[in-house]
Amino acid sequence: MEKTYNIALLPGDGIGKEISIQAKRIINFLSKKNQLHVNLSDELVGGASIDEFGTPLSEETLNRIKKSDAIILGAVGGPKWEKLDFKIRPERGLLRIRKELDLFANFRPALVFDPLIDSSSLKPEIIKGLDILIIRELTGGIYFGEPRGIEKIDGKNFKGFNTLSYTSKEIERIAEVAFKTAMIRSKKLCSVDKANVLESTELWRNVIIDVSKRYPDVELTHMYVDNAAMQLVRNPKQFDVIVTTNMFGDILSDCASMLTGSLGMLPSASIGVMANGEKKAMYEPVHGSAPDIAGMGIANPLAMILSVGMMFKYSFENELLSNKIIKAVKSVLEKGFRTRDILTSGNKEISTSEMGDKILEELEK
Ligand code: NAD
Repeated sequence: MEKTYNIALLPGDGIGKEISIQAKRIINFLSKKNQLHVNLSDELVGGASIDEFGTPLSEETLNRIKKSDAIILGAVGGPKWEKLDFKIRPERGLLRIRKELDLFANFRPALVFDPLIDSSSLKPEIIKGLDILIIRELTGGIYFGEPRGIEKIDGKNFKGFNTLSYTSKEIERIAEVAFKTAMIRSKKLCSVDKANVLESTELWRNVIIDVSKRYPDVELTHMYVDNAAMQLVRNPKQFDVIVTTNMFGDILSDCASMLTGSLGMLPSASIGVMANGEKKAMYEPVHGSAPDIAGMGIANPLAMILSVGMMFKYSFENELLSNKIIKAVKSVLEKGFRTRDILTSGNKEISTSEMGDKILEELEK
């Protein structure tokens, strides 16, 4: 019997809902055209789940999505829920999925499409042909470390604190993913840390060096995060694969997004392996719910559509469909169609759903 791919679609909040509609159209179209059996189910997360169930991720939703083959998530959060207690804010739903499914390896490619060179704030020669991959550790580090909180010290004086910790086991598994990925790209890996100041990242560097002994063909370099941020803007093409901690990866990948022209162009994949050896993965754009443009029909759905492409590659091992999606995006951009965030003079502005239409037209060919 043909395999059925069970995909959980979690639109979330704000523009997450708008771009998820386009993701759904692409998946339905490609599965029909290629006779793939796909079972796509809508689920609630973030503010949408708080409004319905009083929690950013219900146990029932979590149990269902754990059984799916792949998860696609739009974005969560927005002003409506900002005053809620930290523990039940929309973002906690997303962090919980990452933690419960142990999605420890986050792939954030930054690929510059030639037609978008003018949308970047950097000079064309700096970014032309750029194709780098940031691998961010996703389930450890300061976003999860305990203790954490805000405490009253005395009178009006408070203390806010978080804990940055990594175990050698956590570092080793992300290092393995990074070296394996470097092996199938250009065999260059740059590990980013702050080993001169933070002990946890001194350990990070030591473990990376240990793991590198198993990959003698990979040229390994190390860089402090402050320098890496500067180098990403000065000469991004010096990098191929970057591996770094949770918080550093969060910041550096937003910085890398501007190389590509817009946050609306950056897809991501978060991959983990369950205790029983089963692979789990979630695909989502790097950007957030963009409350400033939510409901206006102008959000760029391409990061989301490229995330669908990553799903075909990493979860369903269908590189052909993944490449087709990248090619369709390239063609649409070459024809001058743009959402507002990547609009430059001489091009035609189109809406979120029209961008979905254009991609479908290309895929149809
Ligand atoms: P954001 O990424 O939502 O928006 C930053 C800027 O980029 C905004 O001006 C927005 O209009 C623009 N932008 C983002 N995506 C775009 C797209 N696809 N098309 C066109 N323009 C786009 O970041 P923010 O404003 O800092 O956060 C807004 C909310 O999103 C907050 O509640 C935050 O916590 C949440 N957030 C969620 C995620 C996630 O779900 N993975 C990630 C980051 C932020």
